[in-house]
Amino acid sequence: MPASFDLSGRVALVTGANTGLGQAIAIALAAAGADIVAAGRTEPEETAARVHALGRRFFSIHADLADSAPMQDLATRAIAAFGQVDILVNNAGIIRRADALDVSEEDWDAVLDTNLKSLFFLSQALARHMRSLGCGLGRGKIVNVASLLSFQGGIRVPAYAASKSAVAGLTRALANEWAAHGINVNAIAPGYIETANTAALRADTARSAQILDRIPAGRWGRPDDLAGAAVFLASAASDYVHGVVLPVDGGWLAR
Ligand code: NAP
Repeated sequence: MPASFDLSGRVALVTGANTGLGQAIAIALAAAGADIVAAGRTEPEETAARVHALGRRFFSIHADLADSAPMQDLATRAIAAFGQVDILVNNAGIIRRADALDVSEEDWDAVLDTNLKSLFFLSQALARHMRSLGCGLGRGKIVNVASLLSFQGGIRVPAYAASKSAVAGLTRALANEWAAHGINVNAIAPGYIETANTAALRADTARSAQILDRIPAGRWGRPDDLAGAAVFLASAASDYVHGVVLPVDGGWLAR
């Protein structure tokens, strides 16, 4: 591995690391040398075992990201785990499907609070800490998990599209402000990946075939397809990359 991709001595906080993309990203960062702090509402036992098997440290914090109020407390506990947090991966997210005419305020708030509001306040809390890393010069990596619906409208997921479009805008806004503090803020926009998030789509045979037909790579993505992009955006290899929303989508957006 080129030295610039090496994460030895770094600590990454990954939200929603018990399953799906968050689990794959946590394991990829650990394989590149990082210790992992996981934050979420389900105990990430399998992720812990796989990170330990890679010889890295792992610490789990119970957190409900639908409630943005305790984000400073979460950041404080994450920093206390191993003394610092160099990398934040804002991965946790939910999707609620309904026609726009039928979306309830409860579903709207749940999606926006989890996918956007907590992402902002956790980033803010950790950016204050990252500013002081690197012998006071600032050093930090924030990687947001966006979506193809950061670029497109989607079907029957208006709150999700709003949240993920906002994540793309926020990625650029924070990159503009925090590059000067030595903090890189970027995002990954996963395509259609086989996780719980897309289970309903894959169960709909007609819709699943339509989706597959549009993917130039000719297959749905797998969680570990995100590994390379995650390590890149978490490492020194991306030190001059700010405010990018990087699609990892099998070519979907190129169509
Ligand atoms: P997933 O398997 O459903 O995982 C979602 C993760 O978020 C889980 O760890 C979940 O925890 C956590 N989470 C949800 N609400 C939470 C809350 N209130 N508090 C704490 N944790 C919470 O789906 P995924 O596909 O891996 O999704 C990960 C991210 O990728 C999401 O932001 C999603 O929008 C994005 N994404 C996915 C795709 C795709 O094709 N799969 C495409 C584009 C973007 P629990 O297990 O406890 O629910």
